Amino acid sequence: MTFLRALPLRADLLGEIPYGAPQIDVPVRLNVNENPYPPSDDLVADIAAAAGSVAASLNRYPDREAAALRADLAAYLKNFEHVDVDPACVWAANGSNEVMHQLLQAFGGPGRGVLGFAPTYSMYPQYCRDTFTTYVTEQREADFRLDLQVAVDAVRRHRPVITLLTSPNNPTGTALPLATAEAVLTAAAEHDGLVVVDEAYAEFRRQGTASALGLLSAYENLIVTRTMSKAFAYAGARVGYLVADASIVDAVRIVRLPYHLSSVTQAVASAALAHADELLAKVDTLRAERDALVEWLRAHEFTVADSDANFVLFGRFDDRHAIWQKLLDRGVLIRETGPPDWLRVSIGTAIEMAAFQQALLEATKREGVS
Ligand SMILES: *Cc1c(COP(=O)(O)O)cnc(C)c1O
Repeated sequence: MTFLRALPLRADLLGEIPYGAPQIDVPVRLNVNENPYPPSDDLVADIAAAAGSVAASLNRYPDREAAALRADLAAYLKNFEHVDVDPACVWAANGSNEVMHQLLQAFGGPGRGVLGFAPTYSMYPQYCRDTFTTYVTEQREADFRLDLQVAVDAVRRHRPVITLLTSPNNPTGTALPLATAEAVLTAAAEHDGLVVVDEAYAEFRRQGTASALGLLSAYENLIVTRTMSKAFAYAGARVGYLVADASIVDAVRIVRLPYHLSSVTQAVASAALAHADELLAKVDTLRAERDALVEWLRAHEFTVADSDANFVLFGRFDDRHAIWQKLLDRGVLIRETGPPDWLRVSIGTAIEMAAFQQALLEATKREGVS
């Protein structure tokens, strides 16, 4: 045997730990913004049939360009978001995490920077680290909205290759007015910067909240990313996508690993898109459940951030870890994330929400469930 004296890990990765929320097996799991509804029997049958239809050709590599899936995603956006997008302007990968990683591989790198607005998604610094890209943040307001002038000034000051606008934002649930997105797009264009609007939770937005998809025809530097993990209840399938100018898709195609999206993934993603009606009906149930939870928390004198997503950030706690632990002791797993005195809970079924509310009252010793 020959032994290494030391593992030759990249110097900037020394001491780093793998990302991940605790995967604890408890009755009520409300910690990673999953959709609580498993696929219907009909969809399960279609997923099985779709996997079966590609099974006999798994000796072959998949379609590198995922053409059929990209056309199905474009059709979904036309039917449900009423935007006309050419499939050449859509790109799919293993979760929108991989989409973002590919964007950073293509456009990031040494000497380049990404700008985000904190508190925001905890994966952004990791994509930047992996691609040797500098990550800088500016702060949101106390109510987690992003001030238009703060955002524009930050873009002019940092001149980032990519500005990240997360709408609805994770972990706060805050949606971004289109006027702010437009001001940032215009400011970024002054130095040929791109703007990613991460719309992982867009389907959960409240009535009257707009998607940035409508801005695509006016701004060549706009990239909208979406995922099937949340609204489509497909976190286990790993499918995310972006919509942008075709030149941006072509740039990403340079860095993507060949055959990155398996034949099985492509086929089962299309199977789920064919059930969009049924899946979005469940999203409506979750939106109503979310609004009811926000109201309930406020009625019980918690501080709650307005949410356009399938989770709610609430507080404020002197010792949030103690509350988190007391909930876990009662079989309810939520997330310790965001500013230190807040907690985040994902929206589950009505039964799960009732269990969460009961456990929270016990954990905080508040009286009077209505
Ligand atoms: C969940 C989430 C994603 C999507 O992740 P997938 O890789 O598609 O599962 C992207 N952005 C944000 C802000 C998220 O919370």
